[in-house]
Formats: sequence, C-alpha cells, structure tokens
Amino acid sequence: MEGTDLLVLVVEDEPLTRLAIRTALAKEGFPVIEVESGEEALVHFEHVPSPDVVILDIGLPGLNGFEVCRKIREKRGDIAILMLTSRSEPEDKVAGLDLGADDYIVKPFNPRELVARVRAVLRRSAQRTPSLEPLVFGELLLDLHTQKAFKSGVDLNLSPREFALLAALLRHPGQVLSRDQLGKEVWGEIRIGSARALDVFVCKLRDKIEDDPSCPKCIKTVRGAGYVCG
Ligand code: CA
Repeated sequence: MEGTDLLVLVVEDEPLTRLAIRTALAKEGFPVIEVESGEEALVHFEHVPSPDVVILDIGLPGLNGFEVCRKIREKRGDIAILMLTSRSEPEDKVAGLDLGADDYIVKPFNPRELVARVRAVLRRSAQRTPSLEPLVFGELLLDLHTQKAFKSGVDLNLSPREFALLAALLRHPGQVLSRDQLGKEVWGEIRIGSARALDVFVCKLRDKIEDDPSCPKCIKTVRGAGYVCG
C-alpha cells in the first residue's frame, strides 16, 4: 500500500503545523485535505470516498481530538488514525489509544518521522480492513466490489441502502442487530421515527429477496430486539 491514491485528512487548527504536515506528505505523493476543526473533519465521513488516514490534533477548538477520534471510529472501524499533540503526558497517549487511535506523535515532530508513522498506521489499518470476499446466505450472494446482490445468480437490483442493510446482516450471521444499528447502516445516522421507517424498509426488502416474505428465512424479526440473518 503506497502513498499516492490514499487520502489523508489533517485536522489541526494551527496553520504552521498544518503546512508542515502537508509539505511532508505532498513530497511523498499523498493527497491531503486540511480542516481546522473536528466538526469539519466529521463532514468528510458523510460521503464516499472518505479519507484513508486521519492526522488528528488533540487540542482543537470545539470538539477535542479525543471526541473526534471516537466519532470517527463509530463511522469507520477500519480507518487509520494518528493523534498529534504538543503535550507528552502519558495519560494523553493512553486516552487516545483507548479511543481507537492507531498511534501518537508529539509536536514538534520530524517530518520524515511523521510520514513513516503514517505509512505504519496505514499498514496496520489495511490488515483490519474487512475482506471483500462475497457474502453468501443460502441462494443469496452479495458482491462487495460491485455492491450488487444476486439470488440464484439473478441480479436483485437492490438500492445502495438495501444493499447496505442486507450486507450488515450477512456479515453477522446469527447475531441480532438492533434497529438503531441497522438504521445507521441505511441512513448513516439515527433519526426520530427511524425504527418504524426501518421496519417498512425491511418489509420492502423482504419482498425482493425472500421466497415467502411472510415467512422470511434471511431477515428474521427478533421481537423487541431487532433483526437477525439466519
Ligand atoms: Ca491545536
């Protein structure tokens, strides 16, 4: 996994530090997006493609780096996060790593060391990235590369949201997923009334994928808890 097509998001409110980071990464061919706050950083996770690695300052206006780290992790378990701080207190390091940061670098840093750390966290996150083997359940097959679902080889023409919900269930066979969890897969956030909306959504999806939607085999309801595949 080498530089060039991996997108780096730099979250840092100090312009000179941002400049130093951008300069070091640009030399190595990394495309860089810069933002000054955690709130701006989170916007970049609402859309695809989102960044592959985040360099995240702890001392930020508004949401601090720890809070931003936690929120990014909720959205993207596989992303590489490198925390940046001018403080060297060990408790900061522990707190950052507890929240799911991959590594930690203390300011002022040597630009070459920063790039080396970025490469190292990318290697680690690549090992965490879920495999793109197709998901299979009975006659259903979900191709994660093309985002297409097939039943006995016939394309089911699922919408991206239907695909996301079905993929979430097939990734965790036998495990009950709550309406909140599934709502996040479908809409990316929890909305008021989304539990009911999700039930309607599931009904329509069953019509597309189940032999007998009134007696589903793939998406089963678990009363009061959510849905389960299998
Ligand atoms: Ca700062």
